[in-house]
Amino acid sequence: MSALQPEPKRSELELAVQRAVAEQWRFSQWPPVLKQDYGRSRESDARQVLYHLQVIGLIVAILSIAIDVVALSDQAMRGALLRGLLVIPPALLGVIFAKRWSLRPLKLVAGMSIVAFGTITVHLASLADPVNATRYTMATTFLLGMAGLLLPFVLDEAIAFMVAFCTATLAIGLWPNPLPAGLMLEHLVMTLIVAGAILAIAIRNGELRARTYLYAVRDKFIQGELEQTVQVLRELSEKDGLTGLANRRAFRSVFLQTYANPPPEELSGVSLLMIDLDHFKAFNDNYGHPAGDRALRAVARCLDHAFNAHGGHVARFGGEEFIGALHCHTIADAESFAELVCHEIRALKIPVRRDEAQSVTASIGVASTGAGAKVDLCNLTARADRALYHAKETGRDQVVLSERIELRVDRLAS
Ligand code: GH3
Ligand code: MG
Ligand code: MG
Repeated sequence: MSALQPEPKRSELELAVQRAVAEQWRFSQWPPVLKQDYGRSRESDARQVLYHLQVIGLIVAILSIAIDVVALSDQAMRGALLRGLLVIPPALLGVIFAKRWSLRPLKLVAGMSIVAFGTITVHLASLADPVNATRYTMATTFLLGMAGLLLPFVLDEAIAFMVAFCTATLAIGLWPNPLPAGLMLEHLVMTLIVAGAILAIAIRNGELRARTYLYAVRDKFIQGELEQTVQVLRELSEKDGLTGLANRRAFRSVFLQTYANPPPEELSGVSLLMIDLDHFKAFNDNYGHPAGDRALRAVARCLDHAFNAHGGHVARFGGEEFIGALHCHTIADAESFAELVCHEIRALKIPVRRDEAQSVTASIGVASTGAGAKVDLCNLTARADRALYHAKETGRDQVVLSERIELRVDRLAS
């Protein structure tokens, strides 16, 4: 399989995998997109196997030259020459170009060197004494069996290899120097039995490997879908659908992480703002809910921008109410930030009708803790809420600090 083939579109592949699993397709029924991806998935494994087999093949070829010297001393030279010319060069090419060539030529040189090895062995058998001739023909059949099991061929390649090996080794048994008739028959029968058995195993293994790949790819897709779903659910559970801001739940967890446990060296305190749009019910009644939604989105964008610019966090608390937190050195800092927010909301002049601009205003209650003081979200929220209530009661479109009301209550009490 060439590495240059483009990656298949995921949806096309996914569809093919789903159908192949559901309808239990055999490998031969797979569409090309599936076969290509399967080939790609096996490519690096196949490359490695081929490389190792070629290295082993080279060692065996050199060892067999030594065996020839011992077993058939008068033919050893012929054996060395034939192996040196026909077996070693393709095997060497396979080793040298294992990483650079595409898979097809690598498989071709591996197959060629093994077919050449078998053919030369049978040829040497035809020139040997009966004992060594039997050993050499048996070694050839053994070679066929091992190669058939180990070579990473797909079915049509395995068939082509078997046909080439059987044809060449049987033909050389007949010509130029025929094997004795009995040995030739034995060689023919053994070769055909081994080739048949190996092909049956190759078909079975091929189908099993292909099925394993199918399930693995299907699991990968399911995993991807699950991860996406979890991500969407997480976003849905943490985001407000209308404005895209964090919701109350997410704000609470961000607050606990970012503000609740200040390090001892923290020099600034924490301020919490409760922001409520003024007369929003009337705004909805006058201009309709879609315009109200647009206004809420515009205010949310404005708040997000303001809090982000000051390193703070803001969320939709519910309805037309927002909650935000940020670090402030002093209460005066918190107040001027809240005033800025109030001003920016007023300055939005949200267009709700083509011919007029409508300004939405907000009331803001602020509660703060000093640097190093204990930060309690419930307590801060309750204090900011009281300040907000006060802002509403005393005219709206304004900021009220909880400290101011608390001071007044203390004064009244004393
Ligand atoms: P106040 O100044 O006292 O806060 O008055 P208000 O009208 O803003 O307060 P009230 O609690 O009486 O009404 C809040 C309104 O906010 C009522 C509701 O129609 C509107 N609202 C809440 N959520 C949404 C929303 O998601 N979209 C729209 N368009 N309106 C909303
Ligand atoms: Mg309200
Ligand atoms: Mg309101």
